[in-house]
Amino acid sequence: MEKKYGFIKMTLAEFKDWLKEKKVANTIFRIQQHHTYIPNYGHFKGNNHFALQRSMRNTHVFDNGWRNIGQHFTTFPDGTIVTGRSMEQSPACIYGNNSNSICIEHLGDFDKERDQMNEAQKQTAIEMTAALCQRFNLEVNSNTIVYHHWFKLSTGERNNGKGGNKSCPGTNFFGGNKVVDCETNFIPKVVQVIDPNFVIPAPPVLKYASVTADFLNVRQGPRARFPKTSERDPIALGGIIRVFDEKNKWLKISSTKEHWVSGRYTKEVRKAVVDVDPDDVLNIRTGPSSRFDKVGSLNPKEEVFVEMEEENKWCQLVMREEWISKRFLDFDV
Ligand SMILES: [Zn+2]
Repeated sequence: MEKKYGFIKMTLAEFKDWLKEKKVANTIFRIQQHHTYIPNYGHFKGNNHFALQRSMRNTHVFDNGWRNIGQHFTTFPDGTIVTGRSMEQSPACIYGNNSNSICIEHLGDFDKERDQMNEAQKQTAIEMTAALCQRFNLEVNSNTIVYHHWFKLSTGERNNGKGGNKSCPGTNFFGGNKVVDCETNFIPKVVQVIDPNFVIPAPPVLKYASVTADFLNVRQGPRARFPKTSERDPIALGGIIRVFDEKNKWLKISSTKEHWVSGRYTKEVRKAVVDVDPDDVLNIRTGPSSRFDKVGSLNPKEEVFVEMEEENKWCQLVMREEWISKRFLDFDV
């Protein structure tokens, strides 16, 4: 823990201990999520937390005329937390919705194509929100955890981003700034911190595809300029990928991580399950009819991937001169 200019800088672990001991004579109903927009990742030098916090306070006090810095807490790209105004005071963060609220500003510009939030900061955002919900006995849902974007700027009315809103905490904050994004990508992670037995439901697979290049690099975002991830090897020709999201012809191939491949080097394929009697098999043939030679067989319930195009009600196994009859395939899986 470090103190400067009237602020305290803490690691996530220090914050949790600090919060447990902290007395707050203010009933809290909501935890607001914001991004600072400016300053952003370009302004963070790794050791200037206090200077950035002070410059935000100066802007809020001298330019905006507020009595103190607007937010209660700022999270930084390295996952540390710096305190702002006292939790005894309402924040100055969402017009008309500040009483009984805690305001967290995440340092960065998390609109699409801008800063990509670091894992450390993501973890802090999730775990400090969970700690605050526990501390103030809040149920975890999209009424207690709120994004600035959901409130109309001029009136403070909650319109869920239907017009006259800021993009804050960013159009790419945990995958998006809409209520559904929060409920899909943020809230389940907060719940999981509080209840480790909670299983985050996997998002549905949008489609399956096979790789058409010799090797396809996996990148940390949906553009060629994003670095390759060290968590996954390139995918070889013919490899099958599950697609969870699609942006500018790039495909997200992990349900939980930012793992993307260029869609240009893939083609969509279909998944099916072999639907024959339990003691039977499905013959694989060299062409699209039973007149062709048999080259193998598939067992009941076996999972297969076939090309989109079919011929004469026969399907071709992905990237092979091998065919199976469509009659014995169940695509409803
Ligand atoms: Zn905001």
